[in-house]
Order: sequence, then C-alpha cells, then structure tokens
Amino acid sequence: MHTYTWIFIIPFILTLAMQLWLSFRQAAHVTRHRKAVPEEFKDKINLDEHQKAADYTLAKGRFGRIELLLSSVLLLAWTLGGGLNALDQGLRHFAMGDVATGVAVILSFMLLASLIDIPATLYRNFVLEEKFGFNKLTLKTFFVDLFKNTLLSLAIGVPLIVLILWLMESAGDFWWLYAWLAITLFSLVMMWAFPKFIAPIFNKFQPLEEGEVLSRITKLLERTGFNSQGVFVMDGSRRSSHGNAYFTGFGKNKRIVFFDTLLKHLSPAEVEAVLAHELGHFKRKHVMKGLVLSMTMTLAGFAVLAALMNQLTFFNALGVEQKSTYMALLLFMLVAPVYTFFIGPIMAWWSRKHEFEADAFAAKESSAKELISALVGLYKKNAGTLTPDPLHSAFYDSHPPASIRIAHLKQVGGVE
Ligand SMILES: [Zn+2]
Repeated sequence: MHTYTWIFIIPFILTLAMQLWLSFRQAAHVTRHRKAVPEEFKDKINLDEHQKAADYTLAKGRFGRIELLLSSVLLLAWTLGGGLNALDQGLRHFAMGDVATGVAVILSFMLLASLIDIPATLYRNFVLEEKFGFNKLTLKTFFVDLFKNTLLSLAIGVPLIVLILWLMESAGDFWWLYAWLAITLFSLVMMWAFPKFIAPIFNKFQPLEEGEVLSRITKLLERTGFNSQGVFVMDGSRRSSHGNAYFTGFGKNKRIVFFDTLLKHLSPAEVEAVLAHELGHFKRKHVMKGLVLSMTMTLAGFAVLAALMNQLTFFNALGVEQKSTYMALLLFMLVAPVYTFFIGPIMAWWSRKHEFEADAFAAKESSAKELISALVGLYKKNAGTLTPDPLHSAFYDSHPPASIRIAHLKQVGGVE
C-alpha cells in the first residue's frame, strides 16, 4: 500500500467508527425511553404514538447503518480497489482529449453510482416508509421521477462539468478562483430559477385559496414587511405524508410554499406560527449567512483541490495511476466527507442557534403557544422521536430536540 494512503485510511476509519457508535447510542437511548411518553408531552401524545416514533427511529437507524457500511465499501472499491482507475484507463483508450474524457469519466461514474443506489432508495420508500404509513409513491411516480431527475441532471450538469474542467485545464494558476466564481453564479441562477422552472417539473403548485389561512398569512406578511410572489400549495401528498413548509427563490422571485399535507393537519393559527418561524429565518438573515458560508467553503475546497491536483502522490495514494484534472475533482469530492465529518457538530450547532432565533421571531410576531402546538402536532404526524440521544443530536440535528425547543419557546413567549 502507498505510504500516504494512511492519510486517507485513518480518518476514514475514525469517521466510520464514530458514525456507527453514534447510531448505536441513538438506538439505545430511544429504546430506553420507549416505555413511557416524556412527562411534558403526556397530554398531547399517547403511548402508541410515542412507540411508533421510537420504532420508526430504530428502523431508520438500522437501515442507515447498513447503507453506511455499503457506501464505505463502495468508497474503498472506487478508490483503493481500483474502480476509478479502471474507468479512467478504459476511457483514455478512446483518446478524446482531456475535457471530453473527463466528462465521460465523471458521467459514467455518476451513472454507475446512481444505478447502485436504486435498490436502497426503493427499499427506503416502498418497505421502510411504507411500513410506517408514510409512503405515497407509486412505482410509476418513482420511475418517472428518476427519469426526469436524470434528464435534468444531464441538462444542467454537463455544461457545468465542461466549464469547470475547461477552467481547470486552461485558466492558469488562478483557475480555482474562476471556477469558484462560476459555481457561485450558477448557484444564484439556480436559486432564482428553482421555484418557477424546476420545482414545477416534479410537483403542481396552486395559489393558496381564499380563507382564514390566507387572510392570516397576508396580515402576517404585511406586519413584518415581507414581499413575496405569492403563497402556494404543493401536492406533496403525491409522494409522502410527511409535511413541510418552505421559502424558495430570492430577490423578487420569492415564493412561500406549503405542502398540502401540512395544511391538512394544522389549524390556521398554527400555520401562521409556522410561517412566522420561516420568516424569522429570512428576517434574521440566516438564509444570507448560510449562502456566504457555503460560498466560503466552496472557495476553500477549490483552493485545496488546486494544491492537490499537481501532486501525483494524491492520485497514487487513492488508487489512481495517472494525474488528471477530472480525476482530481472526482477523488476530492469522494474523499472530502471523510475529513469534514468532524466539523458537523459546529454546523449543527450553528443551525440550532438559528432555529432558536427564528422561534423567538415567531413568538414575537405570531404566537409561541400556536407554534408549540404545531410542533407537537408535526412530531406526532411525522413520528419524530421526542427522546434523541444528546450526543447523536449534537452531531446531526439541524433542529433542537423537541423538549429543549419547546422550553425555549415557552420562555421567550411567556407561555405557562
Ligand atoms: Zn427553522
């Protein structure tokens, strides 16, 4: 084995061991608390609902561990096992030039990776989600989605890959700066185009009908001085009974979208409180901060890639014989998560901090009491666990655990 391979293998093992350990901790914690509903939720959630949430969390955890092991084996097979090298050597035979070979290698890799992923996705939707009554997908919708996704990824992805590889080949020492600019511009265009041109390929959007919900929302938007291009209802129930609400777009092209499943299960006052929380993310500039952070990380990533791609050692240590821009890009994207896993808790902490701020905003502009009631309703409906392991939560959860979040809401909203 190459000496430098250890720089990959050691963090790889550490990350995998940590992920498994956290998953087992979560399972043990949820199992321990399965017998009784936590005191503060006793009047709103019954034992059956609590145990369904526990079983759902345990089932997702078990499947998650299998997927984790499979993806780890695959990562080793692609790199040290010689998978990428074989792909590279095979396609180099056609002597198409660096950019064309690069596009062929990256596309073949992505195609193979998505094919390998299909059984797991089928299992997750048609066995796991189905068993707990969440799956609303039919096999037809599943394959139509897959087909649309593939076409869309090709239509958007190929020009982007060509551009990045061309910059890497020909733009000189500062290619990474240009590539970063290109990616940034591309993401902004996508954010703008998503609500109008991309989301409608997969779902139907209808303006929210007149009624108590709409009049409450209109008042809330006026009160907080928020301009949007309308409030829409999305037919999320075509795929899953999990509910959600979100904002998309930016600038003048902002839209508020509610899943039909969410509107069905919440009262108008609760819907208003949920929207006030989402507005809080906007008003407290969380969306902007998130964008700046991801731009900074992309820039750092490209800078590291620029330093690595001239070192033959980088390729050899990861099982690839010859240097190339496209293989540098592919290897970097494959192995980066092994190194970034341990900054996960910092990102999760930052996100939970934003959730508290958005909750405080909702308590001020709408109602803490209604938001609490909506949250409990959503935990119940989505079978979310009320008793996560604290360490697991610190690593992964973008939202604070239910009891902590509700305690905070009671405090800022002066709710008894
Ligand atoms: Zn939030």
